[in-house]
Amino acid sequence: MRQEVSYNRVKIIATAGPACKDPEVLRSLILAGVDVIRLNLSHGTWEDHNYFIKEVRRINLELGTRVALLADLQGPKMRVGRLPAPIPIRPGDEVVFVVEGGEPGTTNIPVEYETLPKDVQPGDILLVEDGRVRLEVLETDRRSRVRLRVLAGDRIGSRKGINLPGRPISLPTLSEKDWEDLLEATREEIDWVAVSFVRFPKDIASVREFLRRRGSNMRIMAKIERPEALNYLDEIISLSDGVMVARGDLGVEIPIEEVPFYQKKIIKSCSKLAKPVVVATQMLESMIQNPSPTRAEVTDVANAVLDGADAVMLSGETSVGAFPVEAVRQMQRILKQAEQQPQIYRLGGSPDPSSPTYYSDAICWTACTLASEVGAKALVGLTYSGYTAFQLARWRPQTDIFIFTPNPRILGALSLLWGVRAYYYRHYEGTYDTIRDVLQILREMGHVSSGETVIFTVSMPLQARLRTNTLHIAQVV
Ligand code: PEP
Repeated sequence: MRQEVSYNRVKIIATAGPACKDPEVLRSLILAGVDVIRLNLSHGTWEDHNYFIKEVRRINLELGTRVALLADLQGPKMRVGRLPAPIPIRPGDEVVFVVEGGEPGTTNIPVEYETLPKDVQPGDILLVEDGRVRLEVLETDRRSRVRLRVLAGDRIGSRKGINLPGRPISLPTLSEKDWEDLLEATREEIDWVAVSFVRFPKDIASVREFLRRRGSNMRIMAKIERPEALNYLDEIISLSDGVMVARGDLGVEIPIEEVPFYQKKIIKSCSKLAKPVVVATQMLESMIQNPSPTRAEVTDVANAVLDGADAVMLSGETSVGAFPVEAVRQMQRILKQAEQQPQIYRLGGSPDPSSPTYYSDAICWTACTLASEVGAKALVGLTYSGYTAFQLARWRPQTDIFIFTPNPRILGALSLLWGVRAYYYRHYEGTYDTIRDVLQILREMGHVSSGETVIFTVSMPLQARLRTNTLHIAQVV
């Protein structure tokens, strides 16, 4: 029996991990409405990641879904080294962070952050585990050891992240491991790669060049979590295919009370540039342990939708939590409710006449406007590159968006876009035959019925793969 898969306009990203490794749990997440599975490359091996890649693709075939894969690079994350057990600490204690060859002891703690002794000065504050532990630098030998005093916290755990707020770090944005992971992700034909700790536009440009040289179609998502990135926001967004508001590290790197306002600013800039934006971290955090969320968490998710997010992300809730399926179901219910609010549709603005893509952007914008004027049942984009999907999603039409493409390599990537449902379609013949055929397919799928209006954006002639240049209004027979 074919099972119903939940659908929302705002998409759900779930992080893979031990809590959803069981194929039945993974399948339940997808049935509950997950659109993208995130492989967190900070944890696990490629053997683990390959398991999820294979399983997601198998479930996609079984359920007819298009769940995409997002490989999230570790980036220059500074971490506590591997510890056999958490080290207990108390305010006032002294500990030593040792860069290399440190034996884990109660005061001698190995860290994976080669340049730490050079990057700090006495008086600097170091945060471990997103600020659970606060340490003050007392002394550095500028080579391999940093002596610190504990200001707050009760333990230092294995592999926990270290932040040095307000200090530039001297590590490159992509480590050797990141380039190797990126190469592996291209081999596995992953849909999206998330670049962590982006600081400058050139970080994205270097990944773009790497993918271009390998003929990869992978889309690039810039994770905004470093203060430097906030100074180059529009350039970074323009060079990327999508953006993540990575609130975990962002909330440690800048004062936490500034995060809500940056969230709104980043979302606005993404909307202006037609780039999908993900709001991430601690969305339903308490559901790692509890079967239901707090009021504040539910309000946070709904507010992300009202702010204009394309997608919301679950991290520990699905990767290590006790209630992964409940977390997705809860998320789905919040999204469904928020999507009934009229203000999330038809965000203001209009296409920029000075843009080199103005004509096709204007067609997509007009299609969305017309769809609401005439009460159309569906907006259909016929596209090879996927560009039209980004443009239609950008205007947040209330009318359903369907993308038909002969390019199977973009299908997964489009799953992340607000409101977009994408289908593989290879019988591109004459434009009118294709339109008739697509209407028939939509009708058979139950998305449209006889007498309803459907608006198409098309590039004519279809085979030429030009930018969208035609708007067509059709009636379902
Ligand atoms: C974040 O910091 O919010 C984030 C999503 O990144 P990571 O989970 O890789 O720390």
